[in-house]
Amino acid sequence: METYTEALQSIEFEMNENQLMISKMIKDFGDRHIRPKMMEWDESQEFPVQLFKQLGELGLMGVLVPQEYGGSGFGYLEYVTAIAELSRIDGSIGLSMAAHNSLCTGHILQFANAEQKSKWLPKLASAEWIGAWGLTEPNTGSDAGNMRTVAVKDGDYYILNGAKNFITHGKSGNVAVVIARTGEIGDSHAMTTFVIEKGTAGFKAGRKENKLGMRASETTELIFTDCRVHKDNILGKVGDGFVQALKVLDGGRISIAALSLGIAQGAFDAALAYSKERHQFNQPISSFQGISFKLAEMATEIEAAKLLTYRAADMKNKGLNVTKESAMAKYYASEVAVRVSTEAVQIFGGYGYTKDYPAEKFYRDAKLCTIGEGTSEIQKLVISRSILK
Ligand SMILES: Cc1cc2nc3c(=O)[nH]c(=O)nc-3n(C[C@H](O)[C@H](O)[C@H](O)COP(=O)(O)OP(=O)(O)OC[C@H]3O[C@@H](n4cnc5c(N)ncnc54)[C@H](O)[C@@H]3O)c2cc1C
Repeated sequence: METYTEALQSIEFEMNENQLMISKMIKDFGDRHIRPKMMEWDESQEFPVQLFKQLGELGLMGVLVPQEYGGSGFGYLEYVTAIAELSRIDGSIGLSMAAHNSLCTGHILQFANAEQKSKWLPKLASAEWIGAWGLTEPNTGSDAGNMRTVAVKDGDYYILNGAKNFITHGKSGNVAVVIARTGEIGDSHAMTTFVIEKGTAGFKAGRKENKLGMRASETTELIFTDCRVHKDNILGKVGDGFVQALKVLDGGRISIAALSLGIAQGAFDAALAYSKERHQFNQPISSFQGISFKLAEMATEIEAAKLLTYRAADMKNKGLNVTKESAMAKYYASEVAVRVSTEAVQIFGGYGYTKDYPAEKFYRDAKLCTIGEGTSEIQKLVISRSILK
């Protein structure tokens, strides 16, 4: 394993050929299949399942999955590029792609045995199946280690009872990776990961959330009532579930940083263009220093977020521990997405407050980034623990 300094020295700042290809492919695809429909999905809170099948055909639903399991076999640089480009158009689509790729599929990829990988990865990588990942519960979000959903051993089976909430693709997902308690509360080695397929008796989706933003990304409860799951559906060892989840989140947070980056860039692009077109006092508003300084700050913060995000992605590719770096990237990029999209609305003035212009959607979508996969406060906890140890 390389040292951190070596890893930093070897960062490539130029996009590789695959990143350029992905970037162009998503721009073309987005213009044809996302932009024309995205406000409709947003208004109606429709999760466009068919679009995800199309993203699967493009290889975007198994970006990190090796080709032997039907994936694209790319690394984190390509993955980050894909999420950022999609989110530059529509954050909801970026969020759902991230949850499918790095949470559900990523957990199976990291911790499943060969037989389990062959069973689930090809279906997920092709988007024949949509994946969900259940850690959060109604009473335990940041404090996920205190979860109450239990899995009690019964011969070769485990019987699950409890509920998860805020689960992306909880209803439309064909399979869910779920972490449940198999021991005492307070013991971080008393939770276990189960893969549960849709249609399993005692497993159903509950209420769908009506959200501020990210409205085309479906978020629902998962409910378990005497749900029997065979022990062959356990990922890794009994008791390792929570520790696995934290490792999955190390990678997942890089994807939320990329999601934030895309939203910030999309909001900036729109605000920049508008500032040149909109005239007040017989001049474009970009000629006012009050506006051009805003644009300068937005552009600088986006660049800084980009560096943190690609640095974390590069380190992840190199097999280095990224707990601190992914938390830093996620924390900073998500706060930048909120600041940049807020300023974008301001630059659009009254029109920024309407649905005729893109600023308000970026503003609504951005806020999720400071909450999902660990709030900004929890990222600061992770970062401070890491630098104080
Ligand atoms: C759209 C959406 C999609 C999601 N998708 C998924 C998914 O697919 N799978 C999944 O498992 N979860 C998912 N989540 C859940 C998400 O990860 C949690 O909402 C998040 O971790 C916060 O948990 P909470 O909502 O319970 O807030 P809480 O933990 O109740 O936090 C409330 C407030 O208290 C603060 N706080 C809590 N603890 C501390 C502390 N120790 N120090 C300082 N401040 C603290 C928080 O920062 C926050 O400001 C999703 C959430 C949303 C909104």
